[in-house]
Amino acid sequence: MTEPRELGGHAAMHEPLGLVVVGAGPAGMAAAATALDGGLRVALVDAGSAPGGQFWRHPPDDARDALPTEDLHHDLRTYRALRTTLAAHERTGRLILLLDHHVWTAARAADGFTVHAVDRGRPPEERAVVLRAPALLVATGAYDRQLPFPGWDLPGVLTAGGLQSLLKGGGAVAGRRVVLGGTGPFLLPVATALAARGAEVVAVCEAAAPSAWLRHPAPLLRNPAKWAEAAGYAGTLARYRIPLRTRTGIVGAEGDGRDGRVAVVRTASLDADGAPLPGTERRIEADTVGVGWGFVPQLDLLLPLGCGLADAGDGTTAAAVDAGQRTTVPGLYAAGETCGVGGAALALSEGRVAAVSVLTDLSAPGRPGVRPLAAERRSVARHRAFARAMAQAHPLPSAWPAWLTDDTTVCRCEEVTAGAVHAVRDGGPATDHRQVKQLTRAGMGWCQGRMCGPAVHCLVAARTEPYTPAERLIATPVTLGALADSVDSPTDATSSEPT
Ligand SMILES: Cc1cc2nc3c(=O)[nH]c(=O)nc-3n(C[C@H](O)[C@H](O)[C@H](O)COP(=O)(O)OP(=O)(O)OC[C@H]3O[C@@H](n4cnc5c(N)ncnc54)[C@H](O)[C@@H]3O)c2cc1C
Repeated sequence: MTEPRELGGHAAMHEPLGLVVVGAGPAGMAAAATALDGGLRVALVDAGSAPGGQFWRHPPDDARDALPTEDLHHDLRTYRALRTTLAAHERTGRLILLLDHHVWTAARAADGFTVHAVDRGRPPEERAVVLRAPALLVATGAYDRQLPFPGWDLPGVLTAGGLQSLLKGGGAVAGRRVVLGGTGPFLLPVATALAARGAEVVAVCEAAAPSAWLRHPAPLLRNPAKWAEAAGYAGTLARYRIPLRTRTGIVGAEGDGRDGRVAVVRTASLDADGAPLPGTERRIEADTVGVGWGFVPQLDLLLPLGCGLADAGDGTTAAAVDAGQRTTVPGLYAAGETCGVGGAALALSEGRVAAVSVLTDLSAPGRPGVRPLAAERRSVARHRAFARAMAQAHPLPSAWPAWLTDDTTVCRCEEVTAGAVHAVRDGGPATDHRQVKQLTRAGMGWCQGRMCGPAVHCLVAARTEPYTPAERLIATPVTLGALADSVDSPTDATSSEPT
């Protein structure tokens, strides 16, 4: 059996943990910093090799000088302040920062929660780490929502978030001539970041009409910072001469026949439902395509814990939380995009609110440095209202299945086509993505439906029903050795005596 990680010899490590935070994005960092300032001993766990999550994704600390990506980030002041706070607590032993640790499951225990992770920091070795604490905060973010189209499985077609992650996490520009498509403001930072790194962004195809925002004046007026951000992107698009084509969709991609990589993107103007308008199709030469249809909250760890869900208003479900970010399970908290997609500023506020709830519920001694809760709650309400408006202004176009042909692959892992999904829908038996999975294997492969699940759901379910991912007991593949370790191990990464 491998030994759990040695944590150093600080006096604080003899104290029990008060809180485990899973996810070191804006929500998890803010929550951990607030809980630490309030006197709790905290473990902050992330699968990535640097804190920051998706918004502040950085190369690993030891590669940052070689791969500068600071110019691609927003609000680095907050990021640096949080890292300074976390580093100070790490030095005293109050914070246990476990990077490259993927949590594969969490379970309720008599005195709180047991969190099982695998340490992947020294490949190929994988080591089991078990954490125990009375409170657990899940801040695991979200992942890109994809809708299939003919050719979306060609090399060179990526998610918009994937393009952004390659850039921010490693300074890698995935292509030279790029077309972006989908819906939502997130396409704009991807376009501007790619252009800033030398890619030619040939078009940004936004399926929605900007006028949809005019139906939501109140959230717009209450969030002037978002206008400033939008104006900044508009200026950058103009500077790099990037055309933003609204009411336009990417309806197909074609390979070049030699290495099969994407060579041509087909776009079309869309009607109000998202159906391509006849005669508007254009062919654009490109070697890379980035597509994003918003995000899906990452609920892997919350579902097996029995956490209640809520309709997020954008076709997905999210963790149901009260005004203090408490889930329906006592001692379990959620913050950031696990509670619905709304951006980094909202995630930060929710993280702080959640930590204050943990401090209150555990009757922690002091709360130095905690920003007045009322202000944070107002910030949450304001940003949530903006997120709702964003979801309504950038809906999934209801007619998107019109882009599919019967032989379009929907589930890439198991190579299930749209025709196969239509057959089990039209034959009567399948009315949700779980049934489609049983009948066609769609969603049964490596990604476990993360890619195809939302699309399959749209193809078979009632239009008003939001997508809820299938429950998975194991959130990431884990070796039998690590599994056996975590069962056998009498100790954990935070035990008072490292072994
Ligand atoms: C690929 C991608 C790129 C994005 N880029 C931008 C951008 O450039 N600009 C922008 O405004 N918004 C971006 N977003 C939206 C962004 O997610 C939010 O605005 C913000 O980062 C949300 O913060 P969060 O703390 O809720 O989650 P995240 O920032 O997503 O942080 C969640 C963290 O949880 C970790 N995690 C998840 N599951 C586990 C697990 N089982 N075990 C251990 N760790 C786990 C992840 O590694 C991640 O670090 C992006 C989203 C995605 C999916």
